[in-house]
Amino acid sequence: MLTCVPSNAQDTRMSERAATEAVRRIVQYSGLTPDLTVREDPSVRTANAYIKGHVRVIAFNPAFITTVLDSSKTNWAAISILAHEVAHHLLGHTLDPSTLRPGDELACDHYSGFILFSMGASLPESLAAIEVAGNPHGTWSHPPKHARSAAIEQGWREAERLRAGVVAAPIALNDDFRFVVRFVGDRSTYYVDRSGALVWFNTQAEPIAFGTFTETPKADGVYQLNWEDQSFFVDRNNAIWRRGEHGLQTIVGRMEAYARP
Ligand SMILES: [Zn+2]
Repeated sequence: MLTCVPSNAQDTRMSERAATEAVRRIVQYSGLTPDLTVREDPSVRTANAYIKGHVRVIAFNPAFITTVLDSSKTNWAAISILAHEVAHHLLGHTLDPSTLRPGDELACDHYSGFILFSMGASLPESLAAIEVAGNPHGTWSHPPKHARSAAIEQGWREAERLRAGVVAAPIALNDDFRFVVRFVGDRSTYYVDRSGALVWFNTQAEPIAFGTFTETPKADGVYQLNWEDQSFFVDRNNAIWRRGEHGLQTIVGRMEAYARP
């Protein structure tokens, strides 16, 4: 068992000190020098990563962590949430905050699974937080639970293969796509496949379906993209629109017909 987390299974509160120590260990497993500041912050809904001034911060709501630890019955749940936030810093996402980057969320989940394997967690332990909290950030930009679990498992299995010295067989990329989808401010590229799934690929070219594509008979757009409770309309010029909280619509991306390279 790690010494950086509460050792008593009944102790489901994570102090700022314990969280700081956990983050130090996580960053250490990346072979880097930690310079992240960890803050207990009840005003944060769950946990997040941001830069203030020149300080890289990971903030967490202690009540949220307690709820997750209570339900999951494993301290690894807190570690995986923190690892996800560490990844936002290490992958540079906090340099350019944007609201709609589902691929970045999946990349952080992948990292979380990878690091948790390296730290000694089993696959169920690595998935414990996402299992009980579903969407730990609770924001509209996060992919659904099944996609996030898939990303964590892919990261965990990648680390397992590395440990065993197994070279993964190259994945035959199925490139029979209908559309390419890009969101403003998001470096990831997404694809709509023939079955109507909205798909993202990790760095090993493993796919994760996290949404659906449908053709709309009428109404706001020609097509519709959905994940979780989010829906986006695609107009005849292939612009992707999101309906705002007050009914205002904004363009958040573009969808184009896929052409094989
Ligand atoms: Zn995130």
